[in-house]
Amino acid sequence: MYDVIIIGSGPAGISASLYLKRANNNILVIGNNNSRLSLAHKIDNYYGFPEGINGKDLYNNGIEQAKNLGIDVLFEEVLGIRYENGFIVKTNINEYNSKYIVIATGSSNSKPNIKNLTNLEGKGISYCAICDGFFFKNKAISLIGNSNYVISECSDLINISDNISIFTNGEETSIELSDFLVEHPNIKVYNDKIIEVIGSDHLEGIKLENGDVIPADGLFVANGIASTSNLAIKLGVLLNNNFIKVDSNFETNVKGCFAIGDSIGGLLQISKCVSDGAICATYINKLLKEKE
Ligand SMILES: Cc1cc2nc3c(=O)[nH]c(=O)nc-3n(C[C@H](O)[C@H](O)[C@H](O)COP(=O)(O)OP(=O)(O)OC[C@H]3O[C@@H](n4cnc5c(N)ncnc54)[C@H](O)[C@@H]3O)c2cc1C
Repeated sequence: MYDVIIIGSGPAGISASLYLKRANNNILVIGNNNSRLSLAHKIDNYYGFPEGINGKDLYNNGIEQAKNLGIDVLFEEVLGIRYENGFIVKTNINEYNSKYIVIATGSSNSKPNIKNLTNLEGKGISYCAICDGFFFKNKAISLIGNSNYVISECSDLINISDNISIFTNGEETSIELSDFLVEHPNIKVYNDKIIEVIGSDHLEGIKLENGDVIPADGLFVANGIASTSNLAIKLGVLLNNNFIKVDSNFETNVKGCFAIGDSIGGLLQISKCVSDGAICATYINKLLKEKE
């Protein structure tokens, strides 16, 4: 069992990893190579770079620094976190256990731009299959997504209903989803773009660009990779406007689960993320020392 697993290899996660490793803890960083930092062409406002630095270079430098210190950094996709006598992080490849968890997954992905989606949240639209699947027992269940994450969410719903549809929302079915559908021939797939979800006090159907309306009782949004809010909801971590709520030590309402960087909001800048990582790691170091 690791002492700490950090999810996210951006500035917040890597900063925390440096402080945790230097205190001799057994840690793992899991990232997915899509830090917001790598989108930044030039960083001009971070300490120590008189000519500025390209975001991707700064991101890669951080990972190299962590690896030079002997930190394991894995590039896998985290699909969910649960607690069973410790935290269990499930990725597309494996499961990993730890005493503490640090969520450093950046700001949440934007929701798909579908008319009426927000209005029907909690009235048929859900972002967590394991949390809400039971409400749709033997009903018409739909999911939006086209990658490992939608497959993982769908796997949590298969025993709940045999009326399941996956909407790729305008994308060609991915190879991984095609393979999954071969094993589950009863699941229907729609590749048309969704333009609207129909219903007022509860979800009734999904309207496609070609005009068809597919009846649906529940719709699970699982596009792209699991976002900060997806991971938090599964673990029962409280959010405020899609940002994770933490106390002054960066601990969430779930004991032993911490969150830092853009995932908690505030100043969405590298300097704040690096500081969050350092402060949070120092506090976890103290907790681990007390347990020895
Ligand atoms: C275009 C642009 C320009 C910017 N310019 C500046 C600037 O000039 N100065 C400045 O200070 N800030 C700038 N920023 C902001 C800065 O990039 C962010 O504040 C910072 O990168 C946030 O760090 P973070 O570690 O919290 O999250 P991120 O850097 O977003 O890293 C998140 C990490 O979590 C991982 N992750 C997320 N979900 C999963 C999952 N399900 N499984 C596995 N891994 C996952 C990602 O792969 C990534 O490694 C800019 C941002 C953008 C988009």
